[in-house]
Amino acid sequence: MRLLVVEDDRDLNRQIVSALEMAGYAVDRALDGEEGQYLGETEPYDAVVLDLGLPKMDGASIITSWRSAGKTMPILVLTARDRWSDKVNAFDAGADDYVTKPFHLEELLARLRALLRRATGHATSELVCGPVKLDTRSGRVVVDGAAVRLTSHEYRLLSYLMHHEGRIVSRAELIEHLYDQDFDRDSNTVEVFVGRIRRKLGCDLIQTVRGLGYMAAPPAEKA
Ligand code: CA
Repeated sequence: MRLLVVEDDRDLNRQIVSALEMAGYAVDRALDGEEGQYLGETEPYDAVVLDLGLPKMDGASIITSWRSAGKTMPILVLTARDRWSDKVNAFDAGADDYVTKPFHLEELLARLRALLRRATGHATSELVCGPVKLDTRSGRVVVDGAAVRLTSHEYRLLSYLMHHEGRIVSRAELIEHLYDQDFDRDSNTVEVFVGRIRRKLGCDLIQTVRGLGYMAAPPAEKA
């Protein structure tokens, strides 16, 4: 999952970005409204954390511009305490949730997990596909009750495919949603990661759809 953080307070921006990276997300950041608006319109994010009070372009205007451009990613806004009218404007513009400053990073992470799973049609934080269970809260992956250790890149890839279970995901989409802007995007890496995940899971959860991409689906029962 790839996220965008738009926040002009440098310290807060850094804190949020590192918490999200620790939690296994690929993260891009912007420090003013114009840059944030541009990134959100041109890059495919799975969700955005957006401060409302920003230099160059305010948060509510950014949301309006993204929504009118047809961007549907979930948006979580950061608001100052007692600015209730800001929240109303943000929701009316198309925001999905908010946290009030100062907030606990754990709450921000929990709200983002909820937004991400709702956007992909999942009701709980545990994703289950055949014998594989992926807990988006703890980042744990279990196959037939046994824990599997994945690297952060492997986890990110598996998590993206399991969020989109039953849908074919192209290699280009994976690359766009797994790596931040600065990452050296070599398309062969996806194949390498898929191979490693398959070996570690020991089952055919990730299917290759020739010429189109990959799909997570419950493995066929062994005869
Ligand atoms: Ca601000």
